[in-house]
Amino acid sequence: MVRYKVFVIYPEDVCRGESKPDICIDESTFKCGSCNWYAGRVFVLARSRDEAIELVKRGLAGLCAECFLDLLIDLNVDIETKEEIY
Ligand SMILES: [Zn+2]
Repeated sequence: MVRYKVFVIYPEDVCRGESKPDICIDESTFKCGSCNWYAGRVFVLARSRDEAIELVKRGLAGLCAECFLDLLIDLNVDIETKEEIY
């Protein structure tokens, strides 16, 4: 079983540490990978934050909240927490 976490990625996270400005994703072009709507932030399932940022940079991940929830429902994920949430 592979364990993934949810990461929130902002446009500035994608640009951070990049020496080539053309790799940076400007806020005006930061879009959901599914519905293509502009998103102030995207959600990614990944094993680490670095992996999540890399996936967004390569255009392989990054969904708005609504599309991300649809994905979780489609994947029928189990949510494991460290403490009771109710
Ligand atoms: Zn979307």
